[in-house]
Amino acid sequence: MADRPPPTLRLHIDKDALAQNWRALDRLSGPARAGAAVKADCYGLGANTCVPVLRNAGCRDFFVAHWSEVPAVLEHVPAEQLSVLHGVGCAAEAEYARATGVRPVIDSLRQAQIWTEGGGGPCHLMVDTGINRLGISLGEASDPAIQALSVEVLMSHLACADEDSDKNTAQLGAFREVMNKVAHRETSLANSAGVALGSKFSFDLTRPGLALYGGVPRPELADTIRQVAFPQARIIQTRQIEAGESVGYNATFTASSAMRVGVVSLGYADGILRNWGGAHFEEGGKHLPILGKVSMDMIVLDLTDAPEIGEGDWVSLPYHLPDAARQTSLSQYELLTVLGHRFG
Ligand SMILES: *Cc1c(COP(=O)(O)O)cnc(C)c1O
Repeated sequence: MADRPPPTLRLHIDKDALAQNWRALDRLSGPARAGAAVKADCYGLGANTCVPVLRNAGCRDFFVAHWSEVPAVLEHVPAEQLSVLHGVGCAAEAEYARATGVRPVIDSLRQAQIWTEGGGGPCHLMVDTGINRLGISLGEASDPAIQALSVEVLMSHLACADEDSDKNTAQLGAFREVMNKVAHRETSLANSAGVALGSKFSFDLTRPGLALYGGVPRPELADTIRQVAFPQARIIQTRQIEAGESVGYNATFTASSAMRVGVVSLGYADGILRNWGGAHFEEGGKHLPILGKVSMDMIVLDLTDAPEIGEGDWVSLPYHLPDAARQTSLSQYELLTVLGHRFG
């Protein structure tokens, strides 16, 4: 095979920032230790890159959503440090859990039965305290199927930790209530935003995800959390357009005077959805608006302010997540997880 030519897209991961974010969240968790949500391929940034960094920073508790995500993480951490949040939905999943030693998070009475019928063993238990997503209800905590479990970490998940909502204290109260009903070794409630809600929410183990990867779900974290993901793309063509000419699908931008534009190799498959229309890049302090719609594999930038940028040059996506979320109206979670596979 011939050598591959250099890529036109790249995703730089600032590993120091990732390690620092975990350490900061661990510190903010007070006496509790911070784990790490590494589901969705570390929120799109790559489990192979990120999991070793988190492990080396000191993390010992890793969470994925699906069993299909287990092998990639097991390359880097011992099985007993890894848990699957979606639990065991069938006997085959319970069997796989036991064979690998990875812990399921039991989410329902049915899951509890499947786990026990397959032989049982240490597991975690998710209790729904008001998000109505996954987890047993408070009333189900005294069911014999739950009482039969050997629960390591009793956990729940906050619905509104990124807001100053009464729901946070309501969920806290419900969680405390259920702690008295189910025997367990440890407790865990807070996601990234929950870590910033204060020590009452920390319990034994926190489970940040978003903030590890540079997301800022609450203003208290703004000065602490550093950007981790730096997507970059090459300008594949520059062109001069005249007043009255339009750019891109549906000709939604029309030049009011002659201008120089640059075509960047970024599009839907890379996670640059149409929400990016109207946003702008910043390169070396220069303001470079996106012109017209994102058109399949390309966007067009206004290079008026940056005559020095030419074909083959790299530009950085404005991926400071709180700013990018404001510009695109995508959530910080979406901005990370949509980044596509063409980033090298
Ligand atoms: C994804 C997830 C987390 C991490 O949440 P962030 O908001 O990304 O910090 C924690 N706990 C559970 C159960 C999750 O599903």
